[in-house]
Amino acid sequence: MEGTRRQSTTNITKPTHKLIDQDETSTVTGPKPSDALPLPLYITNALFFTVFFSVVYFLLTRWREKIRNSTPLHLVTLSDIVAIFAFIASFIYMLGFFGIDFVQSLILRPSPDVWAAEDDGEDEVDLLKEDARIVPCGQALDSTAPPPPQKIAVVPSHHLKPKVVDEIPFPTTLNEEDEEIINSVVAGKTPSYSLESKLDDCKRAAAIRREALQRITSKSLSGLPLEGFDYESILGQCCEMPIGYVQIPVGIAGPLLLDGKEYSVPMATTEGCLVASTNRGCKAIRICGGAASVLLRDAMTRAPVVRFGTAKRAAQLKFYLEDPANFEVVSTVFNKSSRFGRLQSIKCALAGKNLYMRFSCSTGDAMGMNMVSKGVQNVLDFLQNDFPDMDVLGISGNYCSDKKPSAVNWIEGRGKSVVCEAVIKGDVVRNVLKTSVEALVELNMLKNLTGSAMAGALGGFNAQASNIVSAIYIATGQDPAQNVESSHCITMMEPLNGGEDLHVSVTMPSIEVGTVGGGTQLASQSACLNLLGVKGASKETPGANARLLASIVAGSVLAAELSLMSAIASGQLVNSHMKYNRSNKDVSKVAS
Ligand code: ADP
Repeated sequence: MEGTRRQSTTNITKPTHKLIDQDETSTVTGPKPSDALPLPLYITNALFFTVFFSVVYFLLTRWREKIRNSTPLHLVTLSDIVAIFAFIASFIYMLGFFGIDFVQSLILRPSPDVWAAEDDGEDEVDLLKEDARIVPCGQALDSTAPPPPQKIAVVPSHHLKPKVVDEIPFPTTLNEEDEEIINSVVAGKTPSYSLESKLDDCKRAAAIRREALQRITSKSLSGLPLEGFDYESILGQCCEMPIGYVQIPVGIAGPLLLDGKEYSVPMATTEGCLVASTNRGCKAIRICGGAASVLLRDAMTRAPVVRFGTAKRAAQLKFYLEDPANFEVVSTVFNKSSRFGRLQSIKCALAGKNLYMRFSCSTGDAMGMNMVSKGVQNVLDFLQNDFPDMDVLGISGNYCSDKKPSAVNWIEGRGKSVVCEAVIKGDVVRNVLKTSVEALVELNMLKNLTGSAMAGALGGFNAQASNIVSAIYIATGQDPAQNVESSHCITMMEPLNGGEDLHVSVTMPSIEVGTVGGGTQLASQSACLNLLGVKGASKETPGANARLLASIVAGSVLAAELSLMSAIASGQLVNSHMKYNRSNKDVSKVAS
């Protein structure tokens, strides 16, 4: 295995060296024989070749004549002298043309030992130089001047390990001790996951893990930045075994005028058109006086599954929980688990002798999955006293329902349920959105309502809610997997004032967002939350920041729905996507 790796990487590394050498000879060495005349190379060559062979023929002929005539060789005529000079000149040229590189290679070729030594140093310096031309964008995160390239590893020759071609896109210094740890990870003696706890330095752990991974897989991670990220901030919270981070551009849409306030909405996306489209919708809404939102419900859910010996016994627990007196007791137990978690309801469903209990609770500014799970665990422990025959099969029985399309979320809601509306004047529909009220109303009915019904949609009665939900979720550190139910949305477009104006609304029952916990505390995500004025826990009213964020999500979806539906109604969708999704770059070249 090791041997195979060494073989393959050696094969990869050598051509790189050759390339660099060729580059260097062409740029660093002095004048070449072909520079003798200010003529194109092929003419210079032809000239010297002709001269050389002509004078050789002439001199040989002269030599033969002198021998025949018994003339002493040292008696030369002017033409002989000219011929001798021409011979020497052309000989030197041809020696340079064919022989100098060969002679140089004989004189300058390093011994095998020298190569081995240089492999450690120069090779890496060269690679670093190469990498300097393609510095990953992430480096730009750090506004300070980049440190001078450092030697990556000082490795004794017996520790030499294969390197992939364009590794080391980061200036992190790996010392001899690091090299030993890398070797140990590569050999499987040190588990990669244990690096953080062993080294007590998250950045170093990530750098070592990354280097080990490159060697194990013989795959380069060049392009995946390591620098410019606080690895301590994700430890035990956001991501295990990090080796870098993926960059996603953040665009800004807005201002979104919502409930009398303006918001610049950060959207992390790689889909062209999305931000521009949302921006156009924001403009239409703003000109018309803004959008208004109402939070209908605020409750995160968790539904454990428990099993009894009989369906009758399972039903007894259902009736027990539905008794208001018992609910009081149970909610007291639940609420002890957190300052912010407050039990609101328990909805039960039976499947034979199995019982699913959907606990709903408010969770302050946290999205609340952990909070509700803790509360549910307390309740299960408590219920075990009165229902000792209750067999807890799982703290989550999918009746919650987290990160899966489900009717229960669509009907009952999960997280924040928000409705957001706006009235768009007829002239704004015509001038900004380039369509008509009538066309929008008709398209909405046939696409978002009838079309989705025909498709058997579950909560998908909209044009592109998930585009906006995902982009804002990624920018603000939400759990992007919750895009599934958070994107449930019904978009309504109805004529107003006898068809002159448009009433547009989005109703979203399951927006699952938080402004504390999870990815919200990371630097970039936190900056985006700060931009919206919803960073962290609300000091005045716990939960207010998360609720406002949910409203902003709904408002942004409203704007994007307006714009996309207008583009489709006016037949502009394909044109605008060609403009924003496909620049005039040759995509295949960009990809390669
Ligand atoms: P989640 O429950 O969304 O997974 P966490 O497990 O990180 O998130 O819980 C949020 C943490 O933040 C809890 O420890 C909670 O006590 C704390 N916290 C501080 N302020 C607030 C707040 N205003 N709302 C909710 N949680 C808060």
